[in-house]
Amino acid sequence: MNAIKELREHFAEIMRLHYIQALLSWDQEVNMMEYKGLEGRSKQVSLIEKLIHQRVTSEKVGRLIKEAEKLDLNEIESAMLREITREYNLAIKLPEKLVTEIAETSILAAKEWREARAKSDFSIFQKLLEKTVELQKEKAEKLGTHPDLYSTLIDLYEPGATYDWIANIFNPIKPKLIDFVKKLNSSSDKPDGSIFKKHYDEDKQFELSSKIIKKLNFDFGYGRQDKVTHPFTTSLASMDVRITTRTTEPFPDCITSTIHEYGHAIYEMGIKKELHDTILCTGTSMGIHESQSRMWENIVGRSKEFWMYWYPTFQEYFPENLKDVPMEEFHRAINIVQPSFIRVNADEVTYGLHIILRFEIEKDLIEGKIQVSELPEIWNSKFEELLGIVPPNDAQGVLQDVHWSGGSIGYFPTYFLGNLYGTQIYAKVLEKMPNLPDDYKKGEFSNLLNYLKEEIHQFGSIYRANDLIKRVTGEDLNTDYFLKYIEEKFKLIYRL
Ligand code: ZN
Repeated sequence: MNAIKELREHFAEIMRLHYIQALLSWDQEVNMMEYKGLEGRSKQVSLIEKLIHQRVTSEKVGRLIKEAEKLDLNEIESAMLREITREYNLAIKLPEKLVTEIAETSILAAKEWREARAKSDFSIFQKLLEKTVELQKEKAEKLGTHPDLYSTLIDLYEPGATYDWIANIFNPIKPKLIDFVKKLNSSSDKPDGSIFKKHYDEDKQFELSSKIIKKLNFDFGYGRQDKVTHPFTTSLASMDVRITTRTTEPFPDCITSTIHEYGHAIYEMGIKKELHDTILCTGTSMGIHESQSRMWENIVGRSKEFWMYWYPTFQEYFPENLKDVPMEEFHRAINIVQPSFIRVNADEVTYGLHIILRFEIEKDLIEGKIQVSELPEIWNSKFEELLGIVPPNDAQGVLQDVHWSGGSIGYFPTYFLGNLYGTQIYAKVLEKMPNLPDDYKKGEFSNLLNYLKEEIHQFGSIYRANDLIKRVTGEDLNTDYFLKYIEEKFKLIYRL
């Protein structure tokens, strides 16, 4: 067997260990939220982490990489070698003790964070967050893939991206978003969101969300949908993708966030068979992943054509709330642009500002310019600067997101990159299929899905994000598409 085949087999086992770890985490999120003791689970997760680390860094891998470099490889094998080399070079720099400490701390910190958020008391979380930040700094120092620590962490989620590259993208958009929000809110004919203050039965919401993803071609033979407090998607094997839904937030969060998670799941489900169980069997970057989820959630799921099909069903499910509300008004209401405290419920225009806030804070935090203890205060003052409002408490402020508790620092910017990638890709889709939105009126979504599968999903991680966006759209990431999209869409909604 040649070196690349051996590497492929070796990493197939590593992938399976990742899937086992994902199962442990999925079970924890779906079934163990009420549990008090998580020590047992945290030890199991860190053991798997240790086994993965040992296998990735084994002497055999280093030797096989050197041998494989001399071989004549096809496109898939080259990409595989690129990703394996990357994993190896990263893992070899991290001592096993640090890896297991990060894994164990993340589980305990997640528990403290949950309690802190429930009680809106930052002090409960502070100590473990300090430890988490220190561990991430140490990790970035050891990895040293970029001159600055924050870029090293960003690169883990968006390979090839750096702080400077992202700042150059975000900085010019920031004032434009702030202005646009003000402009929309100066309209004398704003949409009315009072229908979302009404009660929507949780079981019915869940049932409808399942109905929708089924219609969007989510195959329940290869996946599940469960209820959780914080929605996410995870793969437990190639072709075993789990999505999660929450019904506890004001309507239509359950619907839009389920469509969002569907967008992640369908990406993973669309990866071609040849790549199953290989290191390439996953979306190529968090930003591209998010481009898919946010395209389905917002561009499709908040479009008028989508609701022309679905609204009568919603009126049947919730006649007491919706029977006298025309579809046009409902559609305007689900597109309200309003500065709000919670990122995941933010509209398409203010969402980017929530991300820019976290991006700027993370940079200063990792560079030691601000301390963990100062976070609540800095969060609130920056929030006012960007969104013009101040969170009433830390639960709706600095404590709202799970990411930092899990050690995911550098992850947030990928969300907004996803919006940018998504609108650029969708502009290309419309160029090729200008009448595509007419499909949605008929409840027909397979033309869009097949296009995305063909152009993006099937390739897994063969192409890096910057190569992929060029392949699909013919150019590098270009923020004009996003700005044009929001301008055209929301001027109509706000009748400006
Ligand atoms: Zn997402």
